[in-house]
Amino acid sequence: MSFAELGLSDHLLQALSEKGYQVPTPIQLAAIPAVLEGRDVMAAAQTGTGKTAGFVLPMLQRLAQGPKVRANSVRALVLTPTRELAAQVEDNAEYYGRHTQLTTEVVFGGVKINPQMQRLRGGVDLLVATPGRLLDLHSQNAVRFDQLEILVLDEADRMLDMGFIRDIRKILKLLPQKRQNLLFSATFSSEIKELAKDLVHNPVEVSVSPENATAHTVEQWIIPVDKSAKTRALIEVIKRNSWFQVLVFSRTKHGANRLVAQLDKAGIKAAAIHGNKSQGARTRALQEFKDSDIQVLVATDIAARGIDIKELPHVINFDLPNIAEDYVHRIGRTGRAGSVGEAVSLVSLDELDLLIEIERLTQAKIEHRELEGFAPNNPLPEVALKAPRKPKKPKTTKPATESSKANRTPTSKNSRPQRKPRPGSSASSEKPSGDKPQNQRRRRRPKPEANGNR
Ligand code: AMP
Repeated sequence: MSFAELGLSDHLLQALSEKGYQVPTPIQLAAIPAVLEGRDVMAAAQTGTGKTAGFVLPMLQRLAQGPKVRANSVRALVLTPTRELAAQVEDNAEYYGRHTQLTTEVVFGGVKINPQMQRLRGGVDLLVATPGRLLDLHSQNAVRFDQLEILVLDEADRMLDMGFIRDIRKILKLLPQKRQNLLFSATFSSEIKELAKDLVHNPVEVSVSPENATAHTVEQWIIPVDKSAKTRALIEVIKRNSWFQVLVFSRTKHGANRLVAQLDKAGIKAAAIHGNKSQGARTRALQEFKDSDIQVLVATDIAARGIDIKELPHVINFDLPNIAEDYVHRIGRTGRAGSVGEAVSLVSLDELDLLIEIERLTQAKIEHRELEGFAPNNPLPEVALKAPRKPKKPKTTKPATESSKANRTPTSKNSRPQRKPRPGSSASSEKPSGDKPQNQRRRRRPKPEANGNR
């Protein structure tokens, strides 16, 4: 089935053709008609499935049919866990909407708030935001929700992992009760289901891409190695294979910094992106990586969300993630859009349990390949594949009860306690590179697809 057969408008079809998309992905096939119909949607889908276009395209179409946005108002709101994902979703929305009159904006913490307040003045049809900054803006009367028609929670599981549940609940109370709700999450834990109960009403449920969906386009293997030899092994793998554009995952921010220093020492130009880095530094590192000015980008799982680099050839897991699903997200950074990628994991004996969980999730044994000169003193045993856990599918949720609806009475802006600034969300002294001139509003200029200068 084509995008045109899904009922998308000519303006959107033109943008899609310019973007080079020919056929809808499964999530798009399922979500676009449901969203166009005005239904609530609950989707189990992760990055790499095309989910962003799955919700953005039909939203733009609905927004194009509605009323003009009023000052400081927002007609559709997309909440995301990270700044990178927020910027990426807005980039996509702006591109898909380039032939419409709709306005899109993005707001997130870690940069000055005043330019964002100015950009919201004329009202915005589609706003992408991280929760903390959105609440800051609301408490300063910079954004109003009385015109809000559609709410999207993107990567809801990640938002809960990152402790945003209270902020999300606060935001929900500020929104009109009558609205369309779209919930996207890679996994459906009991916490997400609990949130969904108050959020989506009689939703269309969509579940795409089993957790190991990327596996066939990614060649994966494990290098068994002693923990103490991992850094040397990492350097060896990169040098021996002459790999360029390597994304290395580290479980911790400190580990990421340490690795960058050690790689630099070994003559491999590297940079890190993680939560302790300023937005400017993260954006710069990502752009340098995309431009091939640096050879290796070291990222933590959270910071890597939203990284979309076409045909990223190599991913190396310096250590395995604590959560098995994160392994799939990590290797999903490579072998995208049908290209073949390589994903290598340096695994030491103390990570055996994590490895067993990953293999259980993906239901595939990952091949062990020893690296010459790095045979571990503590060998990594081959363990039989365990039976899969029960799949976590979204369950039908009951409509919200009257008492939960009653909780949605909009609170007075002035009665809200002053929020404590969260780290990185206060006005930063660095110049926010993504700020747009105050008077550049309404009709959005088409801009190139890969805009890393946010
Ligand atoms: P997402 O899951 O939204 O992060 O999208 C993953 C990648 O797939 C992005 O690079 C999109 O630009 C790309 N993409 C989304 N939809 C399509 C499509 N129908 N055809 C080809 N590529 C697509």
